[in-house]
Amino acid sequence: MHDASSSNDTVGSVSSSSQPGQTDASDQLGLGGHGGHGGLIGLMAAMPQELQALIDLMPDESAVRRGGRVFWRGHLHGREVVAVLSGIGKVAASITATLLADAFGVEQIWFTGVAGGLGAQVRVGDVVVASSLIQHDMDASPLFPRHELPGLGRSRLHPAPELTRQVHEGVAQALLDVHQHVPLHALGLPQPRVHLGLIASGDQFVASAEDGETLRNHLPDVLAVEMEGAAVAQVCDAFGLPFAVIRTISDRADASAHLDFTRFVEQVASPYSLAIVSALLRAQVG
Ligand code: SAH
Repeated sequence: MHDASSSNDTVGSVSSSSQPGQTDASDQLGLGGHGGHGGLIGLMAAMPQELQALIDLMPDESAVRRGGRVFWRGHLHGREVVAVLSGIGKVAASITATLLADAFGVEQIWFTGVAGGLGAQVRVGDVVVASSLIQHDMDASPLFPRHELPGLGRSRLHPAPELTRQVHEGVAQALLDVHQHVPLHALGLPQPRVHLGLIASGDQFVASAEDGETLRNHLPDVLAVEMEGAAVAQVCDAFGLPFAVIRTISDRADASAHLDFTRFVEQVASPYSLAIVSALLRAQVG
């Protein structure tokens, strides 16, 4: 067990020198290999507390530094994983996802974090699983339609339906007994519901009713807003990797959005993420 925030005891400084006959970057890093079921899974956590909860459960983790990030490689519930802090915003998340894909050779990426709720039925404490993602601040009009990703000819990216279905089911299952880990009543939270739908990402913390309303006007079916998911989706699209984005709603993307953020992450979002990731790993999802 390591402390995710400490940087001195990390091991495995990586060599980037390529050797003849080796084309796979994950081999160069000594990171190749496959888990028992379904191969190496990249776990991106948005918050340090979430990452720490994962590391605490890994019996054999070792740290590898790359691109200013610390990647924690080991096993979780018998599956081979690499867990890492995403970094906040689309660029930071893209760097992390690209390294997971290209340097570590993960076979899929699961992202967990928090988000602002925009859908009418989406309450604080609920969980949203993405069935599509959009970069709400992408606007190269009039050259391209608003939100379209130049070069891709699409504005929305969709995770693979089968993985999305498994994740949706797994999250619902994991949340059934979440009251055993989280004092929902004391925190004033309802029994969480799981929603499946559109998540919008952009380099903006949405913290006013007006900005939330603008997003709803542009994207009437949007359920949640955050700052990384659609960027990870674009990276996974480029590498042909299955992925899932799972967000616990921490706020309603309005003027109260900054309140008690840390407390929510510690007391609610981190235990939810841990319960969700554990349930998915145990169910051999992916
Ligand atoms: N207080 C944190 C900063 C969090 S930034 C810190 O000091 O580190 C907000 C993070 O939560 C981002 O990763 C984003 O994806 C997500 N998020 C939660 N609510 C959001 C909202 N209303 N708008 C945008 N992103 C939100």
